[in-house]
Amino acid sequence: MRANRRKNTGPEITLRRALREAGLSGYRLQWKVPGRPDIAYPGRKVAIFVNGCFWHMCPRCNLPLPRSNQDYWIPKLRRNKERDSEKREALEETGWTVITVWECEIRTEIEAVVGRIAHELDGRSKEL
Ligand SMILES: [Zn+2]
Repeated sequence: MRANRRKNTGPEITLRRALREAGLSGYRLQWKVPGRPDIAYPGRKVAIFVNGCFWHMCPRCNLPLPRSNQDYWIPKLRRNKERDSEKREALEETGWTVITVWECEIRTEIEAVVGRIAHELDGRSKEL
């Protein structure tokens, strides 16, 4: 199995392309704030994490755990999940809005995902 935090994964590239096409360019990658969000709009403090459904235990997919080596997988995946919450809290404490996008959403409803991000960005720009 490959490492769970790679740069430039397929779904992330798809999302970035869709954002650009929607006129939402101006994002930064791996911005230097807690958790190093995959995609960030620093001016509006909107951080986006693109989560792999298996690695981050997607609630929609609810994928089964591997049958072998559960002693290894269960704590490992739980820890990923905990880390996700820690990152979210650290960012929210410093005024960021955090959007989690699941790999499966990018695959099946990219337009809704882009709409959600556009909505957040709109809301934030009004506050500034
Ligand atoms: Zn999923």
